[in-house]
Amino acid sequence: MILVLIPDTRLDSPEYQQLLAHIANFPGITTRVHTEVGAEQTLTELYLIGDTKAIPIDDVRNLPCVDSVVRVSEEYRVLGRHKNDDRSTYFDYNGVRFGQDTLHVFAGLCAVDIEEHVEMMMKVLRDNGQVCTRMGAYKPRTSPYSFQGHGKNCLPYVFEMAGKYGIKVIAMEITHESHLEEIREALRQTGGATGVMLQIGTRNTQNFELLKIVGRQQEFPVLIKRGFGITLDESLNAAEYLASEGNRKVIFGLRGMKTNMGDPHRNFVDFAHVPVVKRLTRMPVCIDPSHSVGTRAGSPDGILDVMHVTAQGIIAGANMVLVDFHPVPCKALVDGPQALQMKELPQFLEDIQIAREAYTKRVALVKRYQEE
Ligand code: PEP
Ligand code: MN
Repeated sequence: MILVLIPDTRLDSPEYQQLLAHIANFPGITTRVHTEVGAEQTLTELYLIGDTKAIPIDDVRNLPCVDSVVRVSEEYRVLGRHKNDDRSTYFDYNGVRFGQDTLHVFAGLCAVDIEEHVEMMMKVLRDNGQVCTRMGAYKPRTSPYSFQGHGKNCLPYVFEMAGKYGIKVIAMEITHESHLEEIREALRQTGGATGVMLQIGTRNTQNFELLKIVGRQQEFPVLIKRGFGITLDESLNAAEYLASEGNRKVIFGLRGMKTNMGDPHRNFVDFAHVPVVKRLTRMPVCIDPSHSVGTRAGSPDGILDVMHVTAQGIIAGANMVLVDFHPVPCKALVDGPQALQMKELPQFLEDIQIAREAYTKRVALVKRYQEE
């Protein structure tokens, strides 16, 4: 059971103490507090843990500080969308709002290689009105002999450049807890020039110890990719690990499933699950057309498969697009063959706009028919 408290309830107020005293009378129930400090208000939710079946919902609703009460189902307790659960799906990070009805494009380098390419990428993003990007510094690679990313060495210039070009959020995969401190340190050094969204890659979706550590910090939001060879339920439970440790600024990323049934694509595109994840949870949903398609192949209509699947995800309501671009794809150290080129960015963004408008119209259409 979740008690959603009246916004801006102070935890040192006598009313809140009264509420705790009431709860202490429920046998076998412990509490856990989740506080979300937003731009406009602070929201607090009190989780009652234990067997809450016998607690009458109406009694709890009338307790001091309580705004509303949600009875949670067992699954995805924190991130899940429960019955009569109309809690907000938003979170704000570094001036950017993420939710189940926002849309942001994170175009950028799969892996940072040289400073010049980082600058070219950031500049083209700024020139096209973008405030988010992707920049890989820690790369999990199949072969130990492949380029592993520049790691902490590239962070200062990546962050500085982001500041220079007005980039507010960089999606960056981390593969080890030590990377968190390296990112913090580089942000400190560069005077907080930008923000970072930590990315848990598909190879680490069930790295539970990493999830717990990333979940315990609330400074950075987290993009968790679906595991490539596990069920959707298993991946959603992995996301729940982050939230159960305290970090609810979580975005769920679809990036295709590893199976040769998806050939000739790199992975089997799974964007049909966009509405499913939005129905089962309150997480914004990201699609990664680059790692799911994995090639620059196009169809006879002249549209690249990467762009086709992006539009398919957007028209189904996706909230974020993580996509590989590179100024000189033939020189990219990782995933050059699937990267889009700088000159394709305006077309890509316009194409996304078309799909987004179609999605908005579809939502309006269903509402109109429901009202009739
Ligand atoms: C990536 O986004 O750089 C990446 C490696 O993706 P995934 O974890 O989905 O393979
Ligand atoms: Mn890649």
